[in-house]
Amino acid sequence: MENYICPNCGNQDPRYIGMKNGLPYCRKCLSFQGKHVESSYVPKTGLKLSLNYPLSEKQEEVSSKVLSLLKEGKNVLIHAVTGAGKTELVYRAMEFYLEKRKHVGFATPRKDVVIDLAPRIKEVFREAEVISVYGEHTSRLNGDIIVLTTHQLYRYGGYFDLLILDEIDAFPFKGNDMLNHFFFKSVKGNFVLLSATPSKEDIEEIKKHHGEVVSLFERYHHSPLPVPVFVKKNDYTAIYFVLRKLKEYIKENKPVFIFVPTIDEGEKLFSILSLFVHQGAFVSSKEEDRRLDIERFKQGELDYLVTTSILERGVTVRNLQVMVFAADHEIYSQATLVQIAGRVGRKINATKGDVIFIGKNKTAAITGSIDEIARYNKKAGLL
Ligand SMILES: [Zn+2]
Repeated sequence: MENYICPNCGNQDPRYIGMKNGLPYCRKCLSFQGKHVESSYVPKTGLKLSLNYPLSEKQEEVSSKVLSLLKEGKNVLIHAVTGAGKTELVYRAMEFYLEKRKHVGFATPRKDVVIDLAPRIKEVFREAEVISVYGEHTSRLNGDIIVLTTHQLYRYGGYFDLLILDEIDAFPFKGNDMLNHFFFKSVKGNFVLLSATPSKEDIEEIKKHHGEVVSLFERYHHSPLPVPVFVKKNDYTAIYFVLRKLKEYIKENKPVFIFVPTIDEGEKLFSILSLFVHQGAFVSSKEEDRRLDIERFKQGELDYLVTTSILERGVTVRNLQVMVFAADHEIYSQATLVQIAGRVGRKINATKGDVIFIGKNKTAAITGSIDEIARYNKKAGLL
């Protein structure tokens, strides 16, 4: 079928367009069909922000800047380093729209983030009805604030006066044309993108969409980002090195993440480490019990986790130390390594920690990530 554009997802690739009863239909978005939001919903009056902790001076500065750009009708990309407290940067903007009884949404590529974020937003907008929407959790679509996965945006065509999108560089949103289409289609007013590691394309893109970049290079606790170190090891000595460091950290009561590039590598490494150090677990997208293991780790019942990139974002653990095993693997882009390093030193009374990249070769991604982090510290005036 030539020249047919799917009204749902924007697909125009004829390979995904079929014919049924003489009418074209799109095969690309078959799994994105279901209930749509009732757009006549009006949020309740008197929704106010009630933060019971102060924002840092820099956070205040950025939030005001974001709000004033939105008032001018512009879109915004917030480039905030890991641990800067980026969710807080949009609260004022959300409040401004809520006071006008407008539709406010907070979208993110990952379901885990929706589950963690919804109660946090409820805590600061106490009177608001905060609804979370993700796969298997779609019975209610209307509320004062909607926290949802990017996969659910198709239900909200032309709905949001303010839509915030966190982690624009995360899987599966990044590079997914359909999810991007749903995002833009659901915005009636303006949007704010959040990222710790925006690409050059992201920055060019926001300018094309009548937007501006606002940056925050300083963490909320004012301490610099931990700068990673590269340690050159071959396959055999790498395992020995990891084991030695792991024992050292455990002796000092420091929890440890060991990142691995693949599930296979993770199983292999964990099977060796667990012979010598018992209180650990391997977590990956395949492990059913991962939420439980992560919880046990946070509670201090486990000393270390061997993990694939699923723990690259989102998790904050006090005093965490990080090693990246086979850091020269092609799966580790510069942005991924910056995110991983960003797990360390996030807590106000534990702002330091080790980030060690272990590999046979110092790749461009490794060098680039180390330089990038040092540059942020410099821009924040912390070096
Ligand atoms: Zn379609």
